[in-house]
Amino acid sequence: MMRNYVSVAREEVAAAAVALYNRGLNSNTSGNVSARAGEVFAITPAGSTGILKGNIRPEEVSVVTMDGVLIEGPKNSSEWRVHATIYKNMPEINAVAHPHPPYVRIYTGAVAEELGNMYRGIEGIIPKMCIMFGEAGYYLGADNPARLTAIVAGKSGSQDLANMVLAEIMSKGVSTVVMFGHGTIAIGENMAEALGRAEELEVHAKIAFEMRQDRLLRKGRNPPAQA
Ligand SMILES: [Zn+2]
Repeated sequence: MMRNYVSVAREEVAAAAVALYNRGLNSNTSGNVSARAGEVFAITPAGSTGILKGNIRPEEVSVVTMDGVLIEGPKNSSEWRVHATIYKNMPEINAVAHPHPPYVRIYTGAVAEELGNMYRGIEGIIPKMCIMFGEAGYYLGADNPARLTAIVAGKSGSQDLANMVLAEIMSKGVSTVVMFGHGTIAIGENMAEALGRAEELEVHAKIAFEMRQDRLLRKGRNPPAQA
């Protein structure tokens, strides 16, 4: 029975990694994605294995315990802690997608730069950035855009970062979290839900970024009249 769960989860993870690659949310070597398989979970391998996510096969997917012990497959992703922390604390969640999507990274970087004049330090910038992401959702007609995403900053692969991501999900009821300057965490009861949320967030970030560029261009073309 256990074996069965595991092979289904590995197939799901391989298909999801290919999908993230094909949708342009991830490069061949970055990001990771996982699926719960009973007491363990299947997760994409470490970048150092040289396995490319654009055409990864199920047998190239790692299987690890909730404490990060590798039990099958190649060396697992160093970012397993975020996945394990979510699975351990949220029994209803069965899939976690963590791509490094270009527009999520560009947009948060651009907004941080813009807000940098007004706020000191990333801690001050983050709440304001969440509001701006919310605005993008609002224009798209998303329901309750404030619940769309939260933003955290922390060291990649650390337990601190995993705890921050979990705290944002639990306290704000969000299903996507942006790790600043890094990428997206999208959770789901199943893989389709996690992938859909990761993709939606990237679309919102792209629109928000293009709207911002358009606003800046117009401002440049029509400078305010001098008093
Ligand atoms: Zn990452």
